[in-house]
Amino acid sequence: MTSPHFPHSDAASAALSQVTLRYPNGPSVLDRLDWQLLPGQVVGLLGRNGAGKTTLLETLLGLREPDAGAVQLFGQDALRLDDAARGRIGYVPQHSDLFEAFTPAQLLAYFRSFYPRWNDAKVEGLMSRWEIPRDQAIRKLSGGQKQRLSIIRALAHEPDLLVLDEPVASLDPAGRRDFLRELVGEVMDRGATVVFSTHILSDLERVAFNIAFLSRGRIALQAPLDELLEQVRAFTGSVTEMATLMARLGAQPLKRTPLEAGRERVLARLPADTTLPDSVAVDRVNLDDLFTELT
Ligand code: ADP
Repeated sequence: MTSPHFPHSDAASAALSQVTLRYPNGPSVLDRLDWQLLPGQVVGLLGRNGAGKTTLLETLLGLREPDAGAVQLFGQDALRLDDAARGRIGYVPQHSDLFEAFTPAQLLAYFRSFYPRWNDAKVEGLMSRWEIPRDQAIRKLSGGQKQRLSIIRALAHEPDLLVLDEPVASLDPAGRRDFLRELVGEVMDRGATVVFSTHILSDLERVAFNIAFLSRGRIALQAPLDELLEQVRAFTGSVTEMATLMARLGAQPLKRTPLEAGRERVLARLPADTTLPDSVAVDRVNLDDLFTELT
């Protein structure tokens, strides 16, 4: 049954509603955060170091109990998932130093025993392609190999929701984006929902998906990258002009920056196919600008 908090949650892979979380003696890391991940969406969660990305992903997975608000996965309370729902989730934490004495082959055999659905062909293919030695102790693998192995483990049971916390952090800069594209390709074919966090902007370019900006405990904005670049503009003018213009265009102001002499700069998202009047001072924005202004 649908809870009153989540009018559309049955359709969502994950839905967070008004989620607040603080660590003891700290400020709120998540502050009445609303967020939904829809089936098949591939979302890059972007935020500065310490913004709360790990906290958010752990809360989304039901690994942390929020102080307020609710989290649902596949329409179920994330803190009380049944086994079937659990089996639909794959998670790659930022650091996993478990099983260091196992070999990759032993690790995979161990996890295989838990999952009714396990794709041996995919596992074997990825082990070869990503050059993971099967019979060497995991503690002797490089950081990048460990990370890839952790990803193979999470992909093997073909999850409907794949959550990856900084999945390319241990890879060298040159390989990061290519690897991400390959990873996303693996899961997109099946229509799985994927969310991965990063604090590195260039990871996201040309991987083609939605971007969610985490800032001040909330998702400040989420949209497909190409739509953002098409629809977000920076306007400059007097405060009154800006208010009139935003209302007239039906634009959604994302950030206002006061300038001298009663003027301001407004970063705003325009409705699709807006035609701007010639008289307006307007700039295009790139992903760098968005990151700087929204996180
Ligand atoms: P990110 O993943 O974006 O770098 P985190 O979720 O790791 O951010 O951390 C968000 C904030 O919460 C940081 O200020 C961090 O210091 C703090 N924090 C994270 N984990 C804990 C914890 N277990 N106890 C107390 N504070 C924490």
